[in-house]
Amino acid sequence: MPGSAAPDLTLYYPFEEKHFADHCFLCGTATAPAEVILVFDQWLLQRYDLAGQQIQLLDQSVRAYEQLQIPCCPKCRTHYVEPLETTMAAAVDSAAFRELDEKTLFLWLGKMFYGILVLELLNELNPLIKPQYPLSENGQMLRRLQAFFQTFQALRVPIVFEDFTPASIFILPADSRQDQISFEYDDDLTTMTFSIRLDDMVLIACFIDNGMLRQAMRRVYQDAQRPLHPVQIAEFKARVYYGAHLLNVVPDYYARPVPAGADHIIYDTLIDDITREIFNPWENSGYGQSLQEMWKRWQIPYTEIMRDPAQPLSYLYDQQGRPRTLDAFPESAAGPAGQG
Ligand SMILES: [Zn+2]
Repeated sequence: MPGSAAPDLTLYYPFEEKHFADHCFLCGTATAPAEVILVFDQWLLQRYDLAGQQIQLLDQSVRAYEQLQIPCCPKCRTHYVEPLETTMAAAVDSAAFRELDEKTLFLWLGKMFYGILVLELLNELNPLIKPQYPLSENGQMLRRLQAFFQTFQALRVPIVFEDFTPASIFILPADSRQDQISFEYDDDLTTMTFSIRLDDMVLIACFIDNGMLRQAMRRVYQDAQRPLHPVQIAEFKARVYYGAHLLNVVPDYYARPVPAGADHIIYDTLIDDITREIFNPWENSGYGQSLQEMWKRWQIPYTEIMRDPAQPLSYLYDQQGRPRTLDAFPESAAGPAGQG
C-alpha cells in the first residue's frame, strides 16, 4: 500500500527469553499492568453471557472468564487482536463463517488456546502453586509450544505458509434441538487440542500437526457434516483428542531469508525424523478412555463403551459402519417394530 509503513518482519521467540509476565504475549514489548487483553473477547462474554461464569485451570484453580487476561501492548491490541476479534464477531452471525479463510480461524482459535497456556505457565511461576503435571517441565510440550508460536505469530507478522496449514481445524454442525448449550469450551494443552462451541457450531483444532489429523480423519469428518447430537460431537472430539495424543512428530518451521524490500516472510515446514511413524498405533483401550472422558456428561461406563473390545461403542456409526442418525439420547428401547 502506498504511503503505509513497511511491516515489521522481526520474529519473536518468547521461550528463549522466558518471560510471560509483564511482556506483550505477541511481540515481547514490556507492558504496564493495565495493558492486557481478554483471552475470551468481550463480544464472546456478552453474546454467551459468560461474565461471572467460571473456568477451571490445570492446577484446579477456578477463575471467571473476565479474569482471563494476558499482557498485550497497545500496538498489538489495536493493530492485530482487535481487528481479528471484529472479523470473528461479524462472521459468527452470518453464513460467511464457513468461508472464513483457514488462517484467520487458526489465528483466532490459536489466540484463545495460547492465552490459556500463558495463564497456566504464569500460574506455574507462582511459588504457592504446585501443579501435578507442570507444563514447563514437559520437554516435548515446550518444543510443541515453540513450534506453535512460530506459526501463531502470523497474527502480528505477515507470514505466508507455503503449501501447508499448521493445524487441523474441524467445523461440526450441532443439532440445536438437542440441548440448550450455546457456549462450551475445553482443551487439552499437552496435546495442543482445543474446542469451542458457538451456538450450533463446534470448532475443534489440533495445533502443530500440519493438518495431518484432519487428513487421517477425512472420512469421519466428511460423514459428520450433518446436524449432530451432542453425544456424537463428543465422540468426534474423543477421536480428535485421542488422535492428537498419538501424534508422534513435531514439525519444524523455517523462515526463508527475507529479500530487501519484502513485505512478508515465507515459511516452509519439514517433518524431520522420517524414520518415525507419524502416529503411534491406535489402541481401542486408550481410545475408550478418551470416549469415557468426553461422554462424562452422559455417564456412559467404560465397560459399556468397551463391551466389544474390537469395536468401542459408537453413536456416529452403526455396527455396519454406516453413519447413524441420533434423534434422542438415550435412544428409546423400542425399535420401529415395538412402536404402536
Ligand atoms: Zn505487542
